[in-house]
Amino acid sequence: MKKVSVIGAGFAGLTLSLRLAQKGFTVELFEKEPRVGGLLGTDRTDYGISEKAANALIRTKESEDLFKELGIQPSYPLESSKKRFIFRDHPTRWPLKFAESIQFIFKFIPQFIFVKNKLRPKEFETLENWGHRHLGSAATDYILGPAMQGIYANEISGLSSKLILGGLFAGKKNKRYSGLLTGPGGMQDLIDQLESRLRQIGVKIHTSSTVELKNLEGPVVLATSATAAASLLESSIEKSFENSFANTTAQTSKILKTIKMSSLISVTLFFKNEQKKYQGFGCLIPRQFHLKTLGILMNSYIFKDRNGTYNETWILGGAQEQPLLALSDLEIISLIQTERKKILNLDSEIHDHRINRWDHALPYYDLILEKAQQDLNQLNPTKKIYLHGNYLSGIGLSKILERSQFLSEEIAKHHG
Ligand SMILES: Cc1cc2nc3c(=O)[nH]c(=O)nc-3n(C[C@H](O)[C@H](O)[C@H](O)COP(=O)(O)OP(=O)(O)OC[C@H]3O[C@@H](n4cnc5c(N)ncnc54)[C@H](O)[C@@H]3O)c2cc1C
Repeated sequence: MKKVSVIGAGFAGLTLSLRLAQKGFTVELFEKEPRVGGLLGTDRTDYGISEKAANALIRTKESEDLFKELGIQPSYPLESSKKRFIFRDHPTRWPLKFAESIQFIFKFIPQFIFVKNKLRPKEFETLENWGHRHLGSAATDYILGPAMQGIYANEISGLSSKLILGGLFAGKKNKRYSGLLTGPGGMQDLIDQLESRLRQIGVKIHTSSTVELKNLEGPVVLATSATAAASLLESSIEKSFENSFANTTAQTSKILKTIKMSSLISVTLFFKNEQKKYQGFGCLIPRQFHLKTLGILMNSYIFKDRNGTYNETWILGGAQEQPLLALSDLEIISLIQTERKKILNLDSEIHDHRINRWDHALPYYDLILEKAQQDLNQLNPTKKIYLHGNYLSGIGLSKILERSQFLSEEIAKHHG
């Protein structure tokens, strides 16, 4: 059987290994950390679970199929999660004032109905520019900005409109995006089931392992962050690969190195008192208020298994907020308490908390990444080294899953 080596056992590496093994490849998966899952994982506390990073996948046919084949009974969001808040002096479901709403309706709706094509983002245009052109400044600042920052964890003044909105105009249909899904015990259920299924079907998983590309047989997939992929490629050039693709490898590494990564903190807090004022998915915070919080997830109103002790997850950080990672635990908790008072006007004692600092963890979906993706697409593929991860097809897990399927088909076509 043909052999494939996959480096990096985050969601990208795990799901790709599954699809490759199902296509009959002998797969070896190498992970530098002692555990698999990468950014994904769930802490269990006396008060309930706390997600380390992602709390759910977008519900698509592919994600539902994955849960089904792994035997995980999905947990779907509660009805209460349909309400979403945006902060504008207080959390509100519609953050625009009357005149701003009129401006938005008259600017956006006619374009949407009559000249939809004009909404297509331009190359190398920031999302903020796109928003000003099509939505007006208030809707950009108080709706588009916070919504996108909730997913991409960065201000829209730097985000690429093409990378983020381009897919909406790509003509892909038949995708059934309807809500979210997770495991009843959180994302760790998914990781545990993926790991055990891979072992069952013969995938060799090496944890705490460092590998050199030149020692690996068959095609190799780098399913790490862009930065880690750049270093792996760079060290392989030093160890002198065959000349035929040394050049492409060097160019790929150079492009990957340009990709900026942003840092985040996610903090789950278990409160002594349940807040009942805002019962919804959560609250997004526009940058105009100069707060450090990007968004709040009201976990107890999202999934039914999270309502034992009322808990919220606070996300802070982004490309401009790297210094936050140096704060001590006490300083982070005190910052959240201050901002919780300003945002929700609530003071409540905390039973317990879990802090996750993610240093340079997420790719910044900016104009540099747009250029990097364009440059990577123009390189001659080596058919020996493939790239996978959240800087290529989308930051979210459902997009990563789609790419795992696509890559497994590509590899089968050339090496099966
Ligand atoms: C706070 C937060 C909240 C999020 N919320 C959501 C959400 O609700 N829904 C959603 O869809 N997405 C969410 N995301 C995004 C999503 O979690 C990530 O994009 C996704 O998990 C990335 O998976 P990955 O496999 O590409 O990368 P990673 O998880 O980073 O995995 C890469 C792996 O490669 C390993 N590695 C690196 N270098 C080497 C090497 N040299 N040798 C071997 N192994 C190596 C790493 O140790 C790691 O295990 C969130 C992210 C964060 C940070």
